[in-house]
Amino acid sequence: MLHWRVMSELDVAALRRDFPILQRTVNGKPLVYLDSAASSHKPRQVVDAMADYYYHHHANVHRGAHTLSTEATSLYESARATVARFLGAPDPASVVFTRNTTEALNLVVASWGGANLNEGDEVVVTVAEHHANLVPWHLFKRGRGIVLKAVGLTSEHRIDLEALREAITERTRAVATFHMSNVLGSINRVREIADLAHAVGAVLIVDGAQGAPHLSVDVQALDCDFYALSGHKMLGPTGIGALWARRSLLEAMPPFLGGGEMIRRVTLDDSSYAGIPQRFEAGTPAIAEAVGLAAAIDYLTDVGMDAVAAHDAALARYALERLDELEGITLYGPRGEDRGGIVTFNVDGIHPHDVASALDAEGIAVRAGHHCAQPLGTVLGARATARASFYLYTTEAEVDRFVEVLARTRDFFAAAV
Ligand code: PLP
Repeated sequence: MLHWRVMSELDVAALRRDFPILQRTVNGKPLVYLDSAASSHKPRQVVDAMADYYYHHHANVHRGAHTLSTEATSLYESARATVARFLGAPDPASVVFTRNTTEALNLVVASWGGANLNEGDEVVVTVAEHHANLVPWHLFKRGRGIVLKAVGLTSEHRIDLEALREAITERTRAVATFHMSNVLGSINRVREIADLAHAVGAVLIVDGAQGAPHLSVDVQALDCDFYALSGHKMLGPTGIGALWARRSLLEAMPPFLGGGEMIRRVTLDDSSYAGIPQRFEAGTPAIAEAVGLAAAIDYLTDVGMDAVAAHDAALARYALERLDELEGITLYGPRGEDRGGIVTFNVDGIHPHDVASALDAEGIAVRAGHHCAQPLGTVLGARATARASFYLYTTEAEVDRFVEVLARTRDFFAAAV
């Protein structure tokens, strides 16, 4: 059959030269890295920016009156402004640096939730949330008496917006959901969800762990109230993430962690707290990582987020079309528009861990397991699945190789039974 070819605006061959790790071999074969949804690779520009920071500018931020501290502070604060611009946020002070999406979501639940949620209040999530957007609510729920409601999927594996409409009531105080699912690859209609939440005076909290790396994000156009992201999934280093919050909400929120940097005045008995965003950044922050994240964002911005999104979607469409031709493969997630570069699948009769090991023997990295979305696994009737995920450096030839090795793996196991 003639395949629809991947049309991409990206010069992928040129981009790949910026990622030294993509030149290596695994098990004697060229690496085919299809696990970017778990963590992306880093271009030289990011590693160089962090090295330059350490070699030439490092000191603690916001503290010293000396030159290096001023330079470090200025780089750190300029990274904050870069994140704000990337998210279409008007105000850098509304960006709080965190360790990752998980910490950002815990911050919202503990701080905003702590100040605003009372017994009987409802929070609406979906069955397809990552554990990072479920477990913080579970921890919070104990002893608080709030009600957590989960909305299901349509038969096409999208979030059921009709069910969401029905789940939102006058008692709803927050809706918390993903921008793009890390399992289904589906992209939520965030603006519509925001309208539904705001109609009853609830806030919308968006888990942008997969959205920020792969989609063009404008928090004002999305009209969400919180947006969380992880640097390591978007070409940046580990150890840095960010939370954007609507300024009026953030200003009214109590601190999350206590310590240095986040205070105004401390006596032995009590303390008062700094304004935003410092109030939420206790202790010495991840300065070099913030610099690295800003370099990653500059890189993505130069490439163009619309082109990245289109490239990922084209690869997913191509992979799904090729996998559709193979017998014995179950594919999860919707088809058509509003779908990112994530393809989750199972091979009949083979455990996904065995599939992943067989692919790894050929140098192909995919993820297998519950992908930190166990409730979704239950809904899909598949406690474990395998997942191939793409990014701006993924080529059509790599998708071809993945499909060919997968077909061989399926045949090998079938012959062994
Ligand atoms: N949310 C989604 C949708 C994710 O895919 C992930 C990571 O895989 C997370 C949250 C958590 O990200 P992190 O582990 O960087 O905090």
